[in-house]
Amino acid sequence: WSSETIAMVTGANRGIGFEIAHQLAMHGLTIILTSRETAVGEEAAKVLQEGGLNVVFHQLDIIDPESIKACADWLQETYGGLDILVNNAGANFNYGTDNSVEHAEQIIQTNYYGTKNVTEAMIPIMRHSDVGARIVNVSSKLGKLHSRRNKIEDVALREQLENTDTLTEEFIDQTVNTFVEQAKDGTWQSGGWPQTNTEYSVSKLAINCYTRVMAKRLSERPEGQKIYINCYCPGWVKTAMTGWAGGISPEEGADTAVWLALLPDHLVSGKFFFERRETSF
Ligand code: NDP
Repeated sequence: WSSETIAMVTGANRGIGFEIAHQLAMHGLTIILTSRETAVGEEAAKVLQEGGLNVVFHQLDIIDPESIKACADWLQETYGGLDILVNNAGANFNYGTDNSVEHAEQIIQTNYYGTKNVTEAMIPIMRHSDVGARIVNVSSKLGKLHSRRNKIEDVALREQLENTDTLTEEFIDQTVNTFVEQAKDGTWQSGGWPQTNTEYSVSKLAINCYTRVMAKRLSERPEGQKIYINCYCPGWVKTAMTGWAGGISPEEGADTAVWLALLPDHLVSGKFFFERRETSF
C-alpha cells in the first residue's frame, strides 16, 4: 500500500470512523476523511495531518444526493478514482432502552439508503487493480437474521432475506419501505420486526442483506475489475452513539474494518465479520 491508494471513510469526524481513517492512514494510504459538517471534519482531519498523516478532508452528507455526486466528481477529478470505501456513517436513536420507531424513516434513509447511494455513486469510479477495490460496511450484530432475541419473527420474510440466490435489491428496498410505512401508521408491532432496537436493527439488517446482494452483483465483473464488499460489527464501542458506555475503545472497534480494507490475499466478498472472524448473517 502506498499514498497512491485512495481510501474514503464516511462519518469520519468522530468515533469509529475517525479511528478507521487514522489507522488506514498509519498504513501509508491517502485518506479522504469525510463529514457532513465541514468545520468539524476539517478539525478532525487537522488532528491527523498534524500527526504527519496523509489525510484530506471532503464534505459528504450521505443522505444528500448532491453532496454524494460532488464528492464522487471531486474524487474522479483529483485522484482519478477510489480504491477503498468504508461506509461508516450511521445514526441510532434506539440506544439504551428506547425502542420507539419515531425516527424509522430517518434511520432507514441514513443507515440503509445513505450507504447504498454512496456505494452506487462510488462503484463507477472505483479503480481496477491487481488487488481489487474494496468496500467495507460498518454494520451491527443487531442486524443478524438469526439473533436469538432480535430476529425477524415472520419466517417467510426471514427466509426470503436469507436466500442470497434469489434476494434482490428491490426486495430489500420493499422490505424497509414496508417497515417505514408501518412505523408511520402505527402497525409496526404486528409486522414481526425485531423486538428491540427495532428501527436501528432493521437498518443494519438491510445493510447486511445489501452486502450479500452486492457481492453477487460485483462478482460478475471481469478479472482485474473486481470489487470486494464485506460488512462487520465493531462490537459495543465507547462512542457518542453508546453514550461512551461501550465495552471497547474506538481504536479496537476500528480494527476489523482496517483489516478487511487491507486484506492482502484470499479475498472474500459478501461476508459478515466480527473480531476478524467470519460470522453468520
Ligand atoms: P458516532 O455517533 O460517534 O458516529 C457516527 C458518525 O456518523 C458521525 O461522524 C456522524 O456525523 C456520522 N453521520 C450520521 N449521519 C450522517 C450523514 N447523513 N452523513 C454523513 N455522516 C453522518 O457513532 P459510532 O462511531 O459508534 O458509529 C459508527 C458506525 O458504527 C455506525 O454505522 C454505527 O451504527 C456502527 N456501530 C457502532 C457501534 C457502537 O457500539 N458504537 C456498534 C455497532 C455498530 P455527525 O458528527 O455530523 O453526527
